[in-house]
This record gives sequence, structure tokens and C-alpha cells, in this order.
Amino acid sequence: MPRCCTLGILCGCAVDRKRVPAATLSRQRSSCENPRPRAHAENLKVPATILDGKAVAQQIREELSTRVANVKKKLGRPPALAIVLVGDDPASEVYVRNKLKTAEDAGMGVQFERLPGSSTLATVLGAVDRFNKDTKLDGILVQSPLPKGLGAAAEQQVFDAIDPGKDVDGFNPISAGRVVQNRDGFAPCTPAGVIELLVRAKIPIEGKHAVVIGRSDIVGKPMAALLLHKNATVTICHSRTRDLPAMARTADILVAAIGRPAFVTPDFVKPGAVVIDVGINSVTSADEVRRIFAAYPERLEVFKKRGSVLVGDVHPDVAATAGAITPVPGGVGPLTIAMLMANTVRAAELRVR
Ligand code: NAP
Repeated sequence: MPRCCTLGILCGCAVDRKRVPAATLSRQRSSCENPRPRAHAENLKVPATILDGKAVAQQIREELSTRVANVKKKLGRPPALAIVLVGDDPASEVYVRNKLKTAEDAGMGVQFERLPGSSTLATVLGAVDRFNKDTKLDGILVQSPLPKGLGAAAEQQVFDAIDPGKDVDGFNPISAGRVVQNRDGFAPCTPAGVIELLVRAKIPIEGKHAVVIGRSDIVGKPMAALLLHKNATVTICHSRTRDLPAMARTADILVAAIGRPAFVTPDFVKPGAVVIDVGINSVTSADEVRRIFAAYPERLEVFKKRGSVLVGDVHPDVAATAGAITPVPGGVGPLTIAMLMANTVRAAELRVR
């Protein structure tokens, strides 16, 4: 009996997994001819297809190289991104380092402005104003979060100040409005990356029920809008949602953007659902790591070596229930950076026209 094309088990369907191209296999369970593939999945706890964000991000970056070269030909310089980092938050340091390296590797121009944590809001706004006026720059990113000392409204004021034509992070309210109205503009990179991943993995969105847990301006809300524009029926959940697991279990596509390690457990997930884990949480408590990864010795090893481990908002056990799932790390994170590059290249192309 051949191995099932989509489940990778002896399910008796006529399609031989070995003869199906790898790309098609990401269409989890869609081509299986067995009338009861789900029963197989439930009984045998077949692990979900891993949606490899790292590979898709690499593909996106490769596709951008021709466009970077075209911009260079027309403008006499490559697309260029300004990054502002205020303070010394360790996670932000890592994110900014990755963004700078990815931009440089892609042959793009980069201007990095590091400001001390004691900077005033006027200093940060001054840097944004300078970059807005600099015609040799196409994109501006101010790394979030800003130091608390700048005040609760600082982030909003800084994002408001970024020229919408250079708002490659998509956090300016004009960009947000364009996303809601499905108009041309810059969508925030994380939700844009999730859509890119779903589309490239050929996961159907139209007519599906998508549940987004989280309603932040940078992930949850734009994620819901982008899924809606792909004709999903969308439910947004948050901390006041009643019976969250039951609501989440109605999802064909479940997006977790909560900021709580391993919060989404298998009882949140309909068997076969596509689960997108946006969360990136650095866990340093040995007890918590042991609780989450008791059955995952390789992750315990990582913790032992580094004293911390990255955990998504989705519990690793969900992989036995979901049809497809993004890993953490290596899922949504790399796509976010790839989409930042894509937005910057697009901003430069718009200047060429
Ligand atoms: P956020 O601004 O803190 O928003 C979290 C959302 O989760 C809020 O809407 C909150 O609801 C909801 N929430 C919190 N606790 C909940 C609970 N017990 N039940 C239901 N909903 C709950 O976070 P964010 O900026 O959207 O980020 C979310 C996660 O994604 C974080 O782990 C962050 O590190 C990660 N992230 C990853 C990337 C990437 O590149 N992969 C990019 C950005 C963010 P309320 O509104 O009711 O408070």
C-alpha cells in the first residue's frame, strides 16, 4: 500500500506520497482520496505539516534581488532603509541587528541611527524628520518598543510622524487606513508575511473561518483585515473573549498573536486546522521550560545551553492536532524581516515611477 500523499501514512489512498512534488505536500490533506483521512490523523496523531517560514523568506529575498538591481539602475543607488533604535532593549538589539544584516545582504542601502535611552521625544522626532526629508532614503523604521521614559503616547507620535510614503513598517495611521480599505500602501510586515506564507503554501483562505487571537494595531487588527480581503470569514478574539478555546476550535485557520508562551493548547484547535504562531517569547524560567517542553528533549537541551528558549504562543503539543503549523523559531519571524525588505523595495520603486 502506498504512503498517503498528504498524511504520509498508510491510509490506502490512491495517491502515492513519493510521486507528489514536495511543494504540493504543503497542501496538507487536500489531495488525499481516503474518505476518512481525518480519522487516521486523530488515531495516529500524525504530526502537522511544518510551514517553513525560513524557506519562504529566503525565496522572497531571492525574488527581490532583480528588483533591487532595477532600482539601482534607475535611481543610481539601491533601495535604502533608515533604522532608528532608541535605548538598549536586548530583544530590540537582536531584531535590529537581523534587519540591518538582511538589508545589507540584499544589497540595499542602510542608515542606522542609535539614540540613547535617555533621548527626548523631540530628539526621536527630529531623526524621523531628517529621514523624511532625505531623498536618498526610501523607508524608515523606528524599532518598537520605545523606552518607557519617553511616555505612553510616544510610540504613536513617532509613527504618526513617519512619511506614509516611507512607512515600510506600516504602523502609521494612514497606512492602517489603507490596509482596512484594501488600498495600495504598506501593510505591517508580520501579518503581510503570514498571508504570503499561506498563499505560497497554497492553503485555501477564501470561505474559511479564520480566528485571530490578539487585537494589537501591529499584528491582530491588520491580520484580520488582510484575511478578510482574502475572503475569509474572520473572528477576532482578545482577553475579554468568553470561552476562548471553544471559539478558537471553530477556526480553519487559527492565528495566535497574544504574547503568552504556549498559551494555545490542543483543546483550542480543531483537528486539521492551520495554526499560525506569531508569538515570540523568550522564556528564562527553568520550571516553565520544563512544563512546556517536558516531552521535547531537544528544546530542553537548548535551554540548558543558553539559559533561555524561544517559545511561541502555541504549545508544541498542538502539532499533533493541527493540519499545518508554523514553528517558533523559523516560522513567522523570518517572514516579518523579508516583508520589511519587500516593502522597502516597493517604496523605492514608487519613487522611480
Ligand atoms: P500585544 O500588543 O501585547 O497584544 C496582545 C493581544 O493578545 C492583545 O490584543 C490582548 O488582548 C491579547 N491577549 C492577551 N492575553 C490574552 C488572553 N489571556 N486571552 C486572549 N487574548 C489575550 O502583542 P503584539 O504586539 O500583537 O504581539 C503578540 C505576539 O507576537 C508577541 O509574542 C510578540 O512578541 C509577537 N510578535 C512577533 C512578531 C514576529 O515577527 N513573529 C512580530 C510582532 C509581534 P487585549 O487587547 O484584550 O488586551
